[in-house]
Amino acid sequence: MRKKNKKLDILMILTIIAGVLVLGAAGTLIGLEAGRLHTEVETARAEREAKKASADSGESADVSESGLSDSNLTESVDPEALAAALRATSDVIRGVAVAAVPNVSEYADAVQNGNLVTPIPRNSLENAATGENPTEEENPTEGNGFIVCIDAGHETHQITDLEPNGPNSENMKQGVTSGTQGSWSGVYEYQVNLDVTLKLRDALTARGYTVVLCREINDVTMSNVQRAQIATDANADIFLRIHCNSADSSSVDGVLCYAPTSSNPYLSEEVIERSQALSRIMRDAQCEETGQDALDNLYQDDMTGINWATMPVTIVEMGFMSNYDEDMFLTSEDGQDQIVRGLANGVDEYFSQYGRMETAE
Ligand SMILES: [Zn+2]
Repeated sequence: MRKKNKKLDILMILTIIAGVLVLGAAGTLIGLEAGRLHTEVETARAEREAKKASADSGESADVSESGLSDSNLTESVDPEALAAALRATSDVIRGVAVAAVPNVSEYADAVQNGNLVTPIPRNSLENAATGENPTEEENPTEGNGFIVCIDAGHETHQITDLEPNGPNSENMKQGVTSGTQGSWSGVYEYQVNLDVTLKLRDALTARGYTVVLCREINDVTMSNVQRAQIATDANADIFLRIHCNSADSSSVDGVLCYAPTSSNPYLSEEVIERSQALSRIMRDAQCEETGQDALDNLYQDDMTGINWATMPVTIVEMGFMSNYDEDMFLTSEDGQDQIVRGLANGVDEYFSQYGRMETAE
């Protein structure tokens, strides 16, 4: 028993030594390749800068403003050699460190295709060798601190149970109605609302907002009171309720928002004023981007999701699904993208004008 263990121990030690040797050799290889690459890149950069200097001094008039056109680089360093060096380096790193190094391989491809304009980031190779992710390490997404709650209106099934129309209200309303449907596309409103909401989340997140969604799928059971509660629980700065409209006449089109009246009994004066401003800004921002008509906003105090809100709130009616053009627009990728750009601009505009509501409950 003892002897066997000893044998195993020796075997293990030998294995470890072999492992260390292999890793050491690989490490040296990486170092050499990376070093060689850096040198080549440095040389290329130096040559480019020399060229740029001579261009700036007026020797060559037709060099682009940056002085870093593709042909400039191709002249100063053999792209195939550089690409090969990069490939070799990335292969070694991939094989040994098992690190994902998309930057390196993308860079190599860019070089080979002659697309390279900017010098390789010096630390991308170093990070690749240590397995760090440069984008997360160096460019952490700086949030702007604002929280936006977005509610994609309606859901697959309506909720027929009643709920109070506002806090302490005796006026009871249906939990969630079924919404409309495209007269021409046949697409349900809840689907369009969700499509736009998901795109808007991405757009706002990219602009630094923290976004909270009431729903991310259609098959939920969530009343309007519950949706407003989600916005409150999220401590949202604004609550956007995304909807599509419909009318008896197919000729009616345009964008409008619902806002509380100035005498809404459930909301504070500040929330009312800001909700009215938010409604104006969102409507105008969408129309500005899409070219749709801006209709008069509607001021009503019978909207459950507005009355239960505790922050500035609006219902954006993005267009009429009973109108052919707007039905097609609302259900198209391009139309939704335009709407989302407009709404995201509106959110920016609102916060730049009004900032955060400081009033504590
Ligand atoms: Zn609706």
